[in-house]
Amino acid sequence: MSTIRFKALQETFNRKPVVVEEAGRRSELFGQNVFNEASMRQFMTKDAFKSVMDAIQYGTKIDRKMADQVAAAMKDWAISKGATHYSHWFQPLTGSTAEKHDAFFETIGGGMAMEKFGGGQLVQQEPDASSFPNGGIRNTFEARGYTAWDPTSPAFIYGTTLCIPTVFVSYTGEALDNKAPLLRALQAVDHAATEVAKYFDKNVTKVNATLGWEQEYFLIDKALAFSRPDIVLAGRALLGHSPAKGQQLDDHYFGSIPSRVMSYMRDLELECMRLGIPVKTRHNEVAPNQFELAPIFEEANLAVDQNSLLMDVMTKIADRHNFVVLFHEKPFAGINGSGKHNNWSLSTDTGVNLLAPGSTPMKNLQFLTFFINAIKAVHDNEELLRASVASASNDHRLGANEAPPAIISVFIGDQLTKVLDELEGVSNGKLSPEEKTELKLNVVGKIPDVLLDNTDRNRTSPFAFTGNKFEFRAVGSKANCGKPMTILNTIMAKQLKDFKKEVDGLIDKKGLKKDEAIFNVLREYIKASKKIRFEGDGYSDAWEKEAEKRGLSNNKTTPQALKALISKKTISLYEEMGVMSNVEVHARHEIELEEYTKSIQIEGRIIGDIARNHVIPTAIKYQNTLIENVRGLKEIYGAAFKKVAGEQLDLIEQISNHISEINSKVNAMIEERKKANKLTDAQKMADAYCDKVKPYFDQIRYHCDKLELLVDDDSWPLTKYRELLFTR
Ligand code: ADP
Ligand code: MG
Repeated sequence: MSTIRFKALQETFNRKPVVVEEAGRRSELFGQNVFNEASMRQFMTKDAFKSVMDAIQYGTKIDRKMADQVAAAMKDWAISKGATHYSHWFQPLTGSTAEKHDAFFETIGGGMAMEKFGGGQLVQQEPDASSFPNGGIRNTFEARGYTAWDPTSPAFIYGTTLCIPTVFVSYTGEALDNKAPLLRALQAVDHAATEVAKYFDKNVTKVNATLGWEQEYFLIDKALAFSRPDIVLAGRALLGHSPAKGQQLDDHYFGSIPSRVMSYMRDLELECMRLGIPVKTRHNEVAPNQFELAPIFEEANLAVDQNSLLMDVMTKIADRHNFVVLFHEKPFAGINGSGKHNNWSLSTDTGVNLLAPGSTPMKNLQFLTFFINAIKAVHDNEELLRASVASASNDHRLGANEAPPAIISVFIGDQLTKVLDELEGVSNGKLSPEEKTELKLNVVGKIPDVLLDNTDRNRTSPFAFTGNKFEFRAVGSKANCGKPMTILNTIMAKQLKDFKKEVDGLIDKKGLKKDEAIFNVLREYIKASKKIRFEGDGYSDAWEKEAEKRGLSNNKTTPQALKALISKKTISLYEEMGVMSNVEVHARHEIELEEYTKSIQIEGRIIGDIARNHVIPTAIKYQNTLIENVRGLKEIYGAAFKKVAGEQLDLIEQISNHISEINSKVNAMIEERKKANKLTDAQKMADAYCDKVKPYFDQIRYHCDKLELLVDDDSWPLTKYRELLFTR
């Protein structure tokens, strides 16, 4: 009997839901462990408070004296909450989050000690950066990197540590993390969008990008997950035959949340409340043991931080409930994978959602302006947007008939399609009074202020307008939202900047009125960006052919998709918008290629290992049992044994065939890995892993999974799909 598997199952059967005490009303818990506006007011001097608020609102610098005051207040607050350590919390280019803990406690001589934390420690720290990926930046420039406080995302206490959100940059200023470029992109989109919003309302002084993510994940019992080396090491099952019953009946989606999971979710939500993460919805997802969690949307930088924090919190709380969380985009072949829809919009400091239709023609023209510019931005940069969600794990999902395809397109629904069609007919240059009235009354004026219920939800579109926001659905569940958010906001910033220039040009040079100029430019954008709009079934083969005709990219693999990150166009875009330098862009590209290569390499090793050390020996043992049996039959029946041992002989042969296939495929894969490892160019190496190594995975798996069906269940060493997915 296979011990680990059956022990794990036994352990799982005996589990009870972990009791979670409700700790008072959630509204009271909310933000308890966050150094938010309320706690800042309470703990800070007026001046310090004002300087932080100015930094948040206008990006002004906090001087050193103020930083000391802010640090003192932050420390007092943290200690009052039981914190003993502080940490600069940041998001390196690979992995989720990183932190280095330091105690507040310092000795002050004479055998005494006190709690210390000054402005210096708040504003800047020097983590041992050498182990974080930097794509050659630190080698080329300076050996050291430092973390610097980001006052726009509030500090929080996790456990007994005060966590201070920071950017991570090299001494020469290059970003070594996901946050620094995001902040620059958000600033760029703020500037560009504010200028455009001023056409409609002079009082707008700031525009925030908003993000509401929807996190999908799998929860697997800890003992079962740990019984599988592939799940432990790669975060997904590399082998395993599909169970007889999967998600066909949709019974998980519509069923009630299992009680152990419910108790996990409650625990998680309470922690989220304390950390100020406004989680709101929870439910089962399509696949068995798959779930989703979504918050109320927030300013994008904060929302990205909260998602990174959440993923960490989810993992830790899962452990307490004897679960393992899988964030992998495709942990189990044959059933649905996980994504992280990024709902995105722009919102003014006057409280207007720029992607929400309004109640007057003018408000609707504002809506249409931002709406059409967003479509144009996606049109002009579809390949870059695709690159923003590329990863080895997300490659399993995109284009796999359950998630959006690798082709980027925009879905807007019938009503808005009609509106855009009509706007396409707007006259060139000055508009007659009749045309203006007609536009106001019958086109722009006819957009209902609540489109939400009317936008049909095309679930197959990677970038869909859903009433008052766009939903970028191609983002992977494991991803740091910072990457897609940086790219999306950068392309929007560029687009709005160009738009403003064109409109101003028509006003100045052609003497057009503002609204005439806007209509004229929008008309051209609608025409120019038509090919990105697609309302049909994104999963169909017909769309792939159609998209090719339209000249849209269809980059199915990460090494292919990432090329857009370093195109001339991308680099000049980043430089123009002040988001990243040439060096930063190339560093990132290299890191992402390396990450891709490493993850395929690791998976290749695991699959070879399991196939050779687990599957083949088990198959041989079972085959020996069969051989024993045939021998016995031969003793009893003599020459006539073949008649009674036919099935067994057939099985023996089948097992031999599978074993030899596995062996030769594993050998061939290892040969390809050796060849790939000799390559020195990161792109070529990633290509080799993608095109030469990876194809063996499915072939090896095929034979292993066949053996799973042939070999005695009692001796099969790997916990089976049905056990992983249906035991709770
Ligand atoms: P669903 O798509 O599940 O039907 P909703 O329309 O309520 O549901 O929104 C889904 C997600 O979109 C939520 O996480 C929500 O926070 C987010 N969202 C709603 N409005 C905005 C906005 N203006 N900007 C960014 N995200 C938003
Ligand atoms: Mg959604």
